[in-house]
Amino acid sequence: PYTGPRADEILAKRKKFLNPAMFLYYKKHAMEGKMQYLYDENGRRYLDAFAGIVTVSVGHCHPTVVDAVVQQTRLLQHTTTIYLHHAIAEYAEALAQRMPGNLKVVYFVNSGSEANDMAMMMARLYTGSFDVIALRNAYHGMSPATMGLTAHSTWKYNVAQGFGVHHVLNPDPYRGPFGADGNLYANDLANLVESATPGRIAGFFHETIQGVGGAVELAPGYLAAAYDIVRKAGGLCIADEVQTGFGRTGSHFWGFQTQGVTPDIVTLAKGIGNGLPLAAVVTTPEIAAVMAQRLHFNTYGGNPMCSAAGHAVLKVLDSEQRQQHCASVGNHLLHRLRALQDKHALIGNVRGRGLMLGVELVTDRQAKTPAKAEAALLMEHLKDLGVLVGKGGLYSNVFRIKPPMCFSMQDADFLVDAMDHVMSKL
Ligand code: PMP
Repeated sequence: PYTGPRADEILAKRKKFLNPAMFLYYKKHAMEGKMQYLYDENGRRYLDAFAGIVTVSVGHCHPTVVDAVVQQTRLLQHTTTIYLHHAIAEYAEALAQRMPGNLKVVYFVNSGSEANDMAMMMARLYTGSFDVIALRNAYHGMSPATMGLTAHSTWKYNVAQGFGVHHVLNPDPYRGPFGADGNLYANDLANLVESATPGRIAGFFHETIQGVGGAVELAPGYLAAAYDIVRKAGGLCIADEVQTGFGRTGSHFWGFQTQGVTPDIVTLAKGIGNGLPLAAVVTTPEIAAVMAQRLHFNTYGGNPMCSAAGHAVLKVLDSEQRQQHCASVGNHLLHRLRALQDKHALIGNVRGRGLMLGVELVTDRQAKTPAKAEAALLMEHLKDLGVLVGKGGLYSNVFRIKPPMCFSMQDADFLVDAMDHVMSKL
């Protein structure tokens, strides 16, 4: 039996010794993880439908990934890239093989913020332009540069950030002024390039389904039109696949493929390492070459241990056919959530793809009034039933359902039944 500190003691220590900006969703002690489940200090099981914020891709403590990490750690845990090691090269090759077009050159870093920082720098170096465009409601990181790309007041301090970053209208089919017409939102991007930049830009960042923003899938046709405008202005198109990558959307391996576009730079993090600190910037040899004009270095990026983990994740995704699984379980879940929407007026919108879904709660369907308090309360009640979901969106009124990709049909049914139960009792 467990004899270490209990949840209340840990909470007290966090309060005293950790920065108060760190927020807490679940006050239970997450002691152990096994695939889609977490266990607290009393051995109680929770269905983790948020995967540590979409980070655990193939499952908590997936045995293949754990074995790869343990084996590599016993042999050699760390070198920097100034030593020759096979793991980083083999893994880069395997990752590049998953990319379309000429996206063949990888730089490994440790977090999504770092990856987007690097993508921004590459775009500026390559184009010789400075202006960068992102979408409102985007989340691209918390470093000073990426906080500037992020477009949520919730996540911004009043410190210097985001020089040269502009935010365009978000092609949000549910809340946006042009509904699901991607081309009309793209007009706003064209207008911004003309009116607020020198006419030449460095790049355009986007998620294809906004994660922190509440599983907002960009209006159809938007990315094709936007990429065209960006490229005519000399800019690079940068897809942030930190949440949407690796088959999670079910229909495609990469989120951007759902809109039929091929970016110039792709940034990866979170699910890439099933929870290990690993991230990557993938681009073409021509764009990558611009960084060779100076030395560049990252101490931990692509170390043997994380490379072994990342490579193992790719193998598991294949051997367990996770993309197909995300498609079938995701479709079932969407179907059931839409039926739940018919039953409960509180659900204003159900959206997403595969295992990247959002359920937006409103107190008035016509006015789309965010049901923020209800979302917070229901999240607590779900937790009491042993179900952990995420919360997001500008108004914190969207349930984010992004479980480890091993989430089963039965888990999906249990989740929806639990939601039905707590909503019925509200
Ligand atoms: N991009 C997206 C789409 C994200 O969701 C996040 C993290 N929530 C980041 C970038 C930043 O990643 P990190 O926290 O690893 O810096």
